[in-house]
Amino acid sequence: MKLLNYFRGEAFQRGVHPPPAKGATAHRAIRRLPFPPRVAVPLSQHIGKPSRAIVRPGEEVVRGQPIAAGDDWLSVPHHAPVTGVVEAIDLRPSARGPWQPAIVIRSHPGATQEDLWGEPRDMEPVDGPGILAAVREAGLVGLGGAAFPTHAKLSVPESARVHTLVVNGCECEPYLTCDHRTMVEEADHLVLGIRYAMRATGAVRAIVGIEDNKPDALAAVEAAIARARVPEGVVHAEAVPTKYPQGSEKMLIMALFGAEIPSGALPISMGMVVNNVGTLAAMSALLPRGRGLTERVVTVAGPGIARPGDYRVPIGTPLSFVLDHAGAPDAAGLDCRQVILGGPMMGQSVASLDVPVTKGASGVLVFRHADMAERDRRRTYPCIKCGECVESCPMGLNPSALGMLAAKREYDLMGSSYHLGECFECGCCTYACPSNIPLVQQFRVAKQILRERAVA
Ligand code: SF4
Ligand code: SF4
Repeated sequence: MKLLNYFRGEAFQRGVHPPPAKGATAHRAIRRLPFPPRVAVPLSQHIGKPSRAIVRPGEEVVRGQPIAAGDDWLSVPHHAPVTGVVEAIDLRPSARGPWQPAIVIRSHPGATQEDLWGEPRDMEPVDGPGILAAVREAGLVGLGGAAFPTHAKLSVPESARVHTLVVNGCECEPYLTCDHRTMVEEADHLVLGIRYAMRATGAVRAIVGIEDNKPDALAAVEAAIARARVPEGVVHAEAVPTKYPQGSEKMLIMALFGAEIPSGALPISMGMVVNNVGTLAAMSALLPRGRGLTERVVTVAGPGIARPGDYRVPIGTPLSFVLDHAGAPDAAGLDCRQVILGGPMMGQSVASLDVPVTKGASGVLVFRHADMAERDRRRTYPCIKCGECVESCPMGLNPSALGMLAAKREYDLMGSSYHLGECFECGCCTYACPSNIPLVQQFRVAKQILRERAVA
């Protein structure tokens, strides 16, 4: 690793340092949430084509049973998160806004909620393609928030070669600690998942990047690597500077290797594949048991939560149920100003507490009116050309110019001449802007309009 360290960059350029706000959850063990009376499993909870329901209303299902099939290469199956009866397959509220098709299951109150599906299998002789097939069968998607199907992410095209698996343990969003707790509590699972992913991609080494504000996670992962007795240097954990958005793929690669992924290119163009720690830990928990993903760890936090923590939550659980158990009885009432799914920088504000927890949901944050009062009082002023947004953009874009074009609805120009497509909506520019211009919100709208124009 000495040669690697020589080339390693200290951190990517620019970015911001929002208050971490992780103290309430970072040192609490993961707890299990009770099973809700009803779950709604959306057919579309990943990037790619929605899955296809393979059960009918009235059908009895057991926890872990496949209930939807991947309908395309970029689509994954879903599994029953509870034992119960399929009540309906219809439109339900979703975090994205429009109601989406979902499989609604009423859970049997008296049933054991153990996973009752799936045959244990010996993973040792399974080759790369076999691992990819098993990953797809498990319905795994990126648990870091992107929800990109994991089998597709680990598939290496014939024209490419992967030498390094980069494991993302940064979790740079304020409040979120589900990856942190997973590294501390499930480090052995993580290391086994890394070995599966290396076999699937053909990578000869793996490096876990962990922000240096999580020394206990780094120590736990290093101890698990030692226990796994992998040859020295093949799997390695390394601290990277704490800075937002250190957890984005390009920034992490810059911090670990000092290498810049060219504009428009993916890490695989440089022989690397990036995966999140939670996804890899889940992979090794599920594959040897022949099981599918039925639950995930979610950080439930924010000033409006009485019992903040990381909770293991069945997929499809309504947010109202999660918040009731975490001590936010007022979430549906007058005192709740905002509920965010994900982190405060890149997450989405939800309009209904009937929205379910999905595979990509890393956090549920609750803010009260009092917590937002100062922000609500702030007015938006015209751009004063201070350049703070330019100084903060990790992609080297000019958010000020993009913002002015967005105000004039010059969306095509934003895409063609100002590299809007490179914006990954990290929100640094909005955070840094002293005029409170909602830059990232404008860019999301502009990107959506360009996507719609491209389809038309
Ligand atoms: S939201 Fe886009 S433009 Fe703003 S800082 Fe992030 S990458 Fe740059
Ligand atoms: S940070 Fe805000 S005020 Fe300053 S240049 Fe950017 S958009 Fe203008």
